[in-house]
Amino acid sequence: MKLLSDCIFCKIVRREIPAQLVYEDDQVVAFRDINPVAPTHILIIPREHIASVAEATPDHQGLLGQLLLAAPKIAEKMGLEKDNFRIVINTGADAGQTVFHLHIHLLAGRALAWPPG
Ligand code: C5P
Repeated sequence: MKLLSDCIFCKIVRREIPAQLVYEDDQVVAFRDINPVAPTHILIIPREHIASVAEATPDHQGLLGQLLLAAPKIAEKMGLEKDNFRIVINTGADAGQTVFHLHIHLLAGRALAWPPG
């Protein structure tokens, strides 16, 4: 499994820096975003370092499914409405990606506008 020594999310996976974990399984870790933009703002990440969804390969197909399927599980576990949340994957700097370890934002707890800015 590829892990990067200087990647902040790899450090969270390795418990080298603290995070408020809300879910984990064999391939996925989820924790509260340090700068929440909604009452519930969770980041769902693979344990394996993948820089973005654009860097994923066919070998990651199962992992990508597991990441996505974690979202409703986490929503339910956190007492959210299981079918009332938004998931977002910023991909590339122009799309707002600032941490280059693939992550799904799970946002819930308020009405969300569309389109995003
Ligand atoms: O999609 P983007 O790359 O911009 O999202 C990165 C997210 O990681 C931000 O919402 C930021 O608040 C969060 N973050 C975090 N803990 C860190 C560093 C960044 O929750 N230690």
